Amino acid sequence: MAETDARLWAQMLAHLRAHQPGLWRHWFDQIVCLGLNGGVLRLRVDEPLQRNYLRSNGTETFEDAARAITGRLVTVRFVGQSDEAEEAFARGLSGAHRNGQALALSDLVLDPDNTFENFVMGPGNRLAHAAALGVGERPGSYNPLFIYGGVGLGKTHLLQAICLRILQSHPGTALTYVSCEEYMTQYFAAMQTGELVAFRQKFREVGVLVIDDIHFLTKRERSQEEFFHTFNSLFVAGKQIILSSDAAPEIIPHLEARLISRFKQGMVAEMEPPDFETRVAIIRKKAEMRQLRLPEEAIFHIATCVENNIREIEGALSQVQLRAELEKRTPDLAIARAAVGEPAGASRGGEMTVQTITSAVTEFYNVKLTDLQSKKRPRSITLPRQVCMYLMKHNTRHSLQEIGGYFGGRDHTTVMHALERVEELLKSDSTFEEQLRRLQDQVAKHKMS
Ligand code: ADP
Ligand code: MG
Repeated sequence: MAETDARLWAQMLAHLRAHQPGLWRHWFDQIVCLGLNGGVLRLRVDEPLQRNYLRSNGTETFEDAARAITGRLVTVRFVGQSDEAEEAFARGLSGAHRNGQALALSDLVLDPDNTFENFVMGPGNRLAHAAALGVGERPGSYNPLFIYGGVGLGKTHLLQAICLRILQSHPGTALTYVSCEEYMTQYFAAMQTGELVAFRQKFREVGVLVIDDIHFLTKRERSQEEFFHTFNSLFVAGKQIILSSDAAPEIIPHLEARLISRFKQGMVAEMEPPDFETRVAIIRKKAEMRQLRLPEEAIFHIATCVENNIREIEGALSQVQLRAELEKRTPDLAIARAAVGEPAGASRGGEMTVQTITSAVTEFYNVKLTDLQSKKRPRSITLPRQVCMYLMKHNTRHSLQEIGGYFGGRDHTTVMHALERVEELLKSDSTFEEQLRRLQDQVAKHKMS
């Protein structure tokens, strides 16, 4: 590679990392730059799934980065080691396809990072995770597998993890993964061009069919009926079907009864919002994947603010990264605060912010918040920490678990113990009672203002 190409590529990597933290992946480092020729920058990505992912998600961003650096229009091409390798991969994917009808590689756009290894398990997703893992290891073990839950709770991630695992453990499997929207688009297109036979063949001759967001299946132009027949022919043949939805089968509006009963035939697993500890673990994992170093208190702050939608965690981390880059600082609590604000409900409905409590208490006892959030346990630290917990319990809507989490990942029993301890002191120590009353007054004043 020419020296100028090497420099361009190094600059592009740095540019992408700094300006596109949401897209940037640690495996970008393994991309080989083949050089810029006649306005075309060729980048070699050996792993087919990564290459596919970049072709559909990265082309524009990479081209923008190249243009920003060279000041010229550049076309980016992601290429494989050799075209042969690529064809072999496509053949592998379509192994069970008859008629030699190869499954177009572009049909299988998976995010290579949506693996089981990168999925954090918690009480809210344990069942769905276990079922997904079972199907990934042994297709057919639960059929159909139906996963449902709210937005951003990891349905797509789990579905893709199953696909990636099957491709790994059963390489010859003819696997089709589509979003329901894509499925419908192809269906309507086939109707218009009179290619329904080919459409049916494509979906009825797969070994594993995965359809994401099946709640988008409309009644329009008999699409439910079409899917019903596809479902049956796959099911009877013992082929694995995996579906996700934003609601349980019987709650999906306008879904035909016979589909509801088919969907409930196998394993139905609900995904629920993650608890505090799971959110913390997810933030750690995502930060690690981005090679983003975050202090504990920033992690706890983000986990406190982003409660129900894990996609927002990704957004928050991107924000933190961008701000840190912009201000040329290492990410810290202040940056996390600026990026995600204060916990929801903290200042709503006259509630005071967590920040007011912590600053009143740390000022009064002359301690640092980072000490309160650390594992340190001398009495000079434990008492103010317990007072904070007490005030938070009585002045905010945060659960014991969340409060514990905020103070260095402690569990709810620690918070319960803190509340008891403060109540005991209130009874036995009149000076303490007076001090706490004053702190509470300060808090109340803030609440009213
Ligand atoms: P859904 O399809 O339910 O709307 P996604 O699967 O798209 O949600 O998840 C949104 C984001 O959150 C993705 O980046 C995904 O990797 C991440 N995510 C969700 N749940 C988890 C989890 N348990 N562990 C790690 N990442 C998760
Ligand atoms: Mg999804």
